[in-house]
Amino acid sequence: NKLNTEFEKKTPTSKRLMEDAKKVMPGGVTANIKSFDPYPVVMKKGSGAYLTDVDDNQYIDYLLSYGSLMLGHGHPNIIQAIQEQLENNGTFLFGTPHALEVEMGKRIQKYYPSMEMIRYTNSGTEATLLAIRMAYAYTEKYKIAKFEGHYHGGYNQVLISVNPPVAEAGSSDAPKAIVESKGVEPSQVENTIILPFNNLDACADILKKNQHEIAAVMLEPVQAGFIPGEEEFMKGLREITEDLGILLIFDEVKTGFRMGIGGAQSLYHIKPDITTLGKVIGGGFPIGIIGGKKEIMMVSAPLTASDVFDQSTSGKSSAKDVLFHSGTYNGHPTILSVGMAVLDVLEQEMDQVLSRTEQLKEGILQLFATRGISMQTIGVGSIFNIVITEKKHVHNYRDLQQCNFSLRKEIDFHLLAEGIYTKPLNRYSLSTAHGQKEIDYTLEAFERVLFKKM
Ligand code: PLP
Repeated sequence: NKLNTEFEKKTPTSKRLMEDAKKVMPGGVTANIKSFDPYPVVMKKGSGAYLTDVDDNQYIDYLLSYGSLMLGHGHPNIIQAIQEQLENNGTFLFGTPHALEVEMGKRIQKYYPSMEMIRYTNSGTEATLLAIRMAYAYTEKYKIAKFEGHYHGGYNQVLISVNPPVAEAGSSDAPKAIVESKGVEPSQVENTIILPFNNLDACADILKKNQHEIAAVMLEPVQAGFIPGEEEFMKGLREITEDLGILLIFDEVKTGFRMGIGGAQSLYHIKPDITTLGKVIGGGFPIGIIGGKKEIMMVSAPLTASDVFDQSTSGKSSAKDVLFHSGTYNGHPTILSVGMAVLDVLEQEMDQVLSRTEQLKEGILQLFATRGISMQTIGVGSIFNIVITEKKHVHNYRDLQQCNFSLRKEIDFHLLAEGIYTKPLNRYSLSTAHGQKEIDYTLEAFERVLFKKM
């Protein structure tokens, strides 16, 4: 309550606007995840590493729109790319093929060689949805295996066992599929098999038992961007899926361009069959990309006259032999020009973002150690999380559920008052705009919170 009073004193306009927002949108928000108690901070401006709220409080932004803004807010190269692209093209959208789709595709293939062919979508959600359809179309099997605690977007088949109550979720090595949203038909659990992350033996058992039904295993190679798949586990998973004729889908919507430009797959040296990307490559604008082995991706190639003429070689006779993929805004030229600017900057500045992230992680770890609180800063690349736990290793969702969320939340609210922004309990993502000054200020803020306020 004391925390809430302090928070409310600093953010009276946010409070008033959120009361108003509740008259317009359920809960006052456009996505459930944006809501928190007592009310979310309403922002009005972003610049570089900073956000300013409607009460003119300034924050160093570590949420970065759930990791999307890897160049920070309002990067001049992105503004320039948009202006040039609009001036050169004279239009916002062609609705036809255009050169940038190919140019960007080639750059993606350079960093993600497993993505032999690609297609664009409008969000990460759409990319993983299409990945599942690709896997079904290619294997002609109709179940997906996903991991407990892994998020792949907001549609029915993957809103299962993302954040399940542990008491209802069965044993840790054979987790039950739990529907997590109203409006998801209960029968969805029949198409979605749940696996335990970083437990190879248990995964092998489940996959073998369901080998003939499972089209693909889909996972976040680094769960929620911060709990890494262990190397042996990831290697083993690649081998087992290959042996069993099950496709492996890396959902790199969060990890792509953040664990390194080449994503988690470049760190693990693993070639998934299908990869999904999003977030960072849109520089703050909506995008998704799916790519994979040519023979898999080709199931979406449109029917041609010669396919129909010579069905003996094509095996295709009508549209029903082709995977349907569409989208008015797919490959949006303005967003692809933003993506090109993002890649240009990351090629120069990625290493610095990675080393600043390490510096911040290390600094926070030391402050907590001095304060005598057992915790870890867990993460890979430019994302990490602060996990308050006595455990030496946090391998998966079940381990994470045992950490001290209430203490973490208390710290987060104090940090908000100090001008450090991430949604309470969320991860920390860094951008090219987070310089030494911001890192130093952040560590000083942690020090004040840990030693003076708690
Ligand atoms: N997959 C992963 C791993 C994600 O982190 C997210 C978003 O947080 C998605 C998919 C969904 O992406 P979007 O929000 O662009 O639909």
